[in-house]
Amino acid sequence: MYREAWQRIEASSRIVLISHINPDGDALGSQLALYPILKSMGKKVTAVNRTTPLPIRYDFLPNYEKIRPALPEHIDLIISFDCGSFDRLGIEKQDIPLINIDHHITNTRYGDINLIDETMPSASSVVLKLLEENGISLRRDVATCIYTALAEDTGFFSYDNTNIVAFETASKLIAAKADPAFIARQLKERNSLAKLRLEALTVQKLELINHAMVGYAVLNLDDFKKTGALRSDSDACVNLIRSLATVELAILLIEEQEGFKVSLRSKTRIDVSRIAVSMGGGGHKRAAGFTVRHKNTEKIIAEILEKAELS
Ligand code: 5GP
Ligand code: MN
Repeated sequence: MYREAWQRIEASSRIVLISHINPDGDALGSQLALYPILKSMGKKVTAVNRTTPLPIRYDFLPNYEKIRPALPEHIDLIISFDCGSFDRLGIEKQDIPLINIDHHITNTRYGDINLIDETMPSASSVVLKLLEENGISLRRDVATCIYTALAEDTGFFSYDNTNIVAFETASKLIAAKADPAFIARQLKERNSLAKLRLEALTVQKLELINHAMVGYAVLNLDDFKKTGALRSDSDACVNLIRSLATVELAILLIEEQEGFKVSLRSKTRIDVSRIAVSMGGGGHKRAAGFTVRHKNTEKIIAEILEKAELS
């Protein structure tokens, strides 16, 4: 499969690299890892993400500024990254071959070629395997992107997807001159005050139920206005809820124009990917999400508890 995917890339000349809407470090890092490599192969490459503005915290990734919000006119291959279902790309169905590079257990295999390995700690680890299997050597800019993606998806090597591959991958990337301390500083020590205020608000609004085993908070549109925080500033809020000693299941509801984006996290027992899939979303065992198109928050929480068999 890895060979076949590379042959497809070699045979194409106008290639789009696209990651999921509301991108995280794995989405952008995986996508940008391939950008300079394909460029150096003489391809016309466009990096696309439909979200604007993009989260600024990833602006240190090489070629971050090249990411565009729209597809170009002429495309002969699309490669998607870290995206479990086609709808999360935010584009219309195209009659163009698609390579789907991902590590979500819930991936719907919407590509013509699906490079999906759910044992991988990040989509970027799948990208690294693609490069290795095809004899492409690592460069520093590429290693920085792959490492950033890996560090973010493993919670800096702390979540339970932190397996041996994560450390083997990290050591290869450091050998290729990725700088772990630099990357950690970029991601962890450049918070805006608005982001910290949104996190403080999350703690203030936190509700604990089921003997404090479940923690949830609802962030309304007004909370973002009040704090000046951006949507992407809420990424850490759900982990903050999970960090409480008693919490096994953390739920964060983020209000959108027509409903809520729901983030789920668990510690060791509950498979939140299963809950998310049954609500029309997806993700991993310990981190998953979905979107609902109504604003009845009590109903959303009740449904989650029922599916988690906690009600
Ligand atoms: P987050 O809660 O940070 O948005 O997402 C956690 C995990 O679940 C990520 O791996 C993300 O890609 C996945 N995820 C979140 N929302 C959705 C969704 O609506 N559909 C699918 N397929 N995956 C989602
Ligand atoms: Mn990922």
